[in-house]
Amino acid sequence: MFVKNVTSFTASGGPGNLTASCACLLSSQTIRVRRCHLANRGIPPACRSRKMNQRSDMPAHAAAGETAAYRDPERLLQDLIHFDTTNPPGNEAECVRYIEQLLAGAGFQAVLLGRQPDRPNLITRLPGRGAAPPLLLHGHVDVVTTANQKWTHPPFEGKVADGYIWGRGTLDMKGGVAMMLAALLRAKAESFVPAGDVVLAILCDEETGSDLGSKYLVENHPEHFRNIRYAISEGGGFAIYIGKRKLYPIMVTEKQLCTMRATVCGAGGHGSMPVRGGAMARLARLIQRLDRRRLPVRITPATRLTVEGASKALPFPANLVLRQTLNPLMTDRILALFGPGRTALDPLFRNTVAATVVHASDKFNVIPSEITIELDGRLLPGCSPEQFTAELRHVIGHDVMLEVIRYDPGPAEPDMGWFDTLAGILRQADAEGTVFPLLFSGVSDARFFRRLGIQTYGFTPIPLPRHLRAWELGHGPDERVPVGAIRFGTDAIYEALKRYGAACPTDPLGSH
Ligand SMILES: [Zn+2]
Repeated sequence: MFVKNVTSFTASGGPGNLTASCACLLSSQTIRVRRCHLANRGIPPACRSRKMNQRSDMPAHAAAGETAAYRDPERLLQDLIHFDTTNPPGNEAECVRYIEQLLAGAGFQAVLLGRQPDRPNLITRLPGRGAAPPLLLHGHVDVVTTANQKWTHPPFEGKVADGYIWGRGTLDMKGGVAMMLAALLRAKAESFVPAGDVVLAILCDEETGSDLGSKYLVENHPEHFRNIRYAISEGGGFAIYIGKRKLYPIMVTEKQLCTMRATVCGAGGHGSMPVRGGAMARLARLIQRLDRRRLPVRITPATRLTVEGASKALPFPANLVLRQTLNPLMTDRILALFGPGRTALDPLFRNTVAATVVHASDKFNVIPSEITIELDGRLLPGCSPEQFTAELRHVIGHDVMLEVIRYDPGPAEPDMGWFDTLAGILRQADAEGTVFPLLFSGVSDARFFRRLGIQTYGFTPIPLPRHLRAWELGHGPDERVPVGAIRFGTDAIYEALKRYGAACPTDPLGSH
């Protein structure tokens, strides 16, 4: 059953009547919930503010009704880190309501929409002057687990130490959410009216597949995203280094999730009388084949964009060497030169598969006659599950049953129409850096917005120092960002709002 919680706020931040645009969201299944009721589902306001006030170094922006949180986006990030939104289970409600209050204090009206009351998403809108289609900023507030990780500083304190803000989500992606919020609040405070409406979507549930977050919104509330062509979110904008060169990738497209189930069968029986060549032995052969062989090289348009863009940043002869990877006969030989760095590059050139889950006997003395494993498949844009299955068959043979469990499709090629504008902003902000378009090997909320024809650019700019790698810190211990980085990113996103639709009067999107 779909249950949607809808709240709206007057400029003073109190519960108000639904506006005309919000009212159309209500269906017979929709339950309108007053704010006080919503608050009671989480921590009651009194307890919540007590909790916030315990952090003597925290501004508790929303509780204080402060409207100028944008002036200190890094403190805003610290506030967000304090909410433990580890997913599973998520528990994003308190964090989302904090953001709702923050926005309400600045005069924004927001709606909360979700399949579950304790897992809401938030949507708000800064009206534009109608000279361009709306622009979307989307960010998720759930984070991955910190279990079994050793942290130098507690992951949910947002401590500032040694020149960094430490905490789960600083990179993925409460840092980006803080940038978007601060940029939007700043636009409001400075009475800046963008060329098109700016829609902000704060999302839950990204880290376990987005079923309650972007996927839910796209499937159930697409009206909020009507006519949007471009969006900004995670997956790019952080600095990386190749040799002496500093590069800023902007994510323009992602690989596509294709989860498979493989089943092997064989003689079962009692554990006291072992069988030979049974399902376990077949499973061992299957895993070994997957471990020894890679799927074939495919040079897709997205692969080409990434390699050509990155190689432009490199000096001779490194640029020529990298470009040789675009020759399928040479790809693996060149990648081998990268040593351990190959792990990060390899997914750009092929579909990948990783065995992750095994279901076998659940009793120690029963030999299973059937074993299933789940395979995490990631397809290059433009590849189909059928092509992927054929590639897998070539590696694992035909005596294994294969089924597709989940496939999230996407377009074969990105829309590069707004890339140059974003690249120009980063070049201006950091003259040392070279910007290039990135095919992201992970997946994010962007894949669901793509179903509505929305092109997301991964653009949460963070000038990381040379020794820190975003892809290692993102889900690992000691996730952190340099002090000053969130302000840098906020300025870049604010500049993007300003340049959106402003570059060329004949082109409302300003893409030239
Ligand atoms: Zn993320």
